[in-house]
Amino acid sequence: MNAGAKHTVIKNGRVVSEGEVRVTDVRIEGDRIAAIGPFDGEPADRVIDASGCYVLPGFVDFHVHLDDRIGRFYLADTYESGSRIALQNGITTICSFVTQGPGQSLREAIRIAREKAGGETHCDLLWHLTPTTFAEPDWTDIQEFLASGYRTIKLYTTYKPAGIFADQARLQEVFEKLGPLGATFLLHCEDDDVIAGIDLPPLELAHAFSHTRLRPEEAEVLAVERLLALALRTGARLHVVHVSTSEAASRIRIARETQDVTSETCPQYLWLDHGWLTREDGHRWLCSPPLRGGREAFRDLAASGTFDFFTTDHCAFRCADKDDWDRRDIRGVANGLAGLGALPHLVWRLWSDDPDRAAVEMALRLSRNPAQRAGIGARKGSLEPGFDADVVVLDPNGPDHPVRSSLADAVETYPGFTSPLSFRHVLLRGRPAVAGSQLTSPGEPAGQILQEPV
Ligand SMILES: [Zn+2]
Repeated sequence: MNAGAKHTVIKNGRVVSEGEVRVTDVRIEGDRIAAIGPFDGEPADRVIDASGCYVLPGFVDFHVHLDDRIGRFYLADTYESGSRIALQNGITTICSFVTQGPGQSLREAIRIAREKAGGETHCDLLWHLTPTTFAEPDWTDIQEFLASGYRTIKLYTTYKPAGIFADQARLQEVFEKLGPLGATFLLHCEDDDVIAGIDLPPLELAHAFSHTRLRPEEAEVLAVERLLALALRTGARLHVVHVSTSEAASRIRIARETQDVTSETCPQYLWLDHGWLTREDGHRWLCSPPLRGGREAFRDLAASGTFDFFTTDHCAFRCADKDDWDRRDIRGVANGLAGLGALPHLVWRLWSDDPDRAAVEMALRLSRNPAQRAGIGARKGSLEPGFDADVVVLDPNGPDHPVRSSLADAVETYPGFTSPLSFRHVLLRGRPAVAGSQLTSPGEPAGQILQEPV
């Protein structure tokens, strides 16, 4: 026992651990979970009463875009503002992206991201890497990064003009070279040939709904199909991001039985459908892949465990930027939706008529599974002795309040959505970080970057 460490006991909560809910206590010593069980009469520096609340491992949002330029626009959320609303809503770790820019080394891109995030992030943080040029020094660099705590490589089967597209030959080369070094590959799956083959009359391009025709379901299904085959041949560890169609989801679920593949979807694909694109301001709901139809069946798939975890693909644009387009071609609209603050509220909804089940699913699909895929599953994502004391005390019966995706002046993705979930306490590595849904020290971001400088 560390004599100088603070002891915290969280008492009488509905503790979610090892796939079960039981009313008990959690004892925290310093920055780690010490034990789970009844702790009557033992001394503690701090006692938190969790009666009537669930006690959960801190959530991990595996897919977040912050403080970056996307196309013509700069994102509305910095590491500070994005991590602030995340932590207020129980997300203790975020995984963001470092993309190698034109004429830039990936090493330089990582350094710039560290400069932006250092001292600014309220959550713990790590990055997925998007290499783009694959020249000789890049390969050597990536090998070094993989050996020093960077474990995930993001690749795209679309977005040629942005310079991030990877064709099948490139994917195969990357899988073969980096797979054996321990990399997990995150794939954005929309087949670029399908998309390039679609031609719409100019008049239709003015309507946001046309985005669903420009990026049809077949593009996702075909990309997933080709990718699963390639990953099977090369033995690549695969994670398919933001799955939007029932067909692709089902194929991945079947493939999961024979190969190492996981998938995520996001609340916008659960709770919003393509009808939002027919609104007068429908362009504000433009994202790729687009919102789709048939969401009830898609939610059934999600509720029955088809997706390993849920993420936001948080990509917040200022209202003025989202509205800045020529009203003739929706392909010029800022492409992405905010969601960080909404994540737990909209995942809970899938099982809200069975709160214990909802809590168990959240511990699995917002904490354990994403932590494992991010390579931090030995220290985060579960309430287990020795793990980081990232702990959420969640009141499922708080007063209904509006869901809020971002604290920036960004388009709200879920207007009119409310939630009864209230975050009574959030602890980050044993330190009280949120009380009553507000940060305890908003001026002192205490998040750690979980990867070493390069
Ligand atoms: Zn994304």
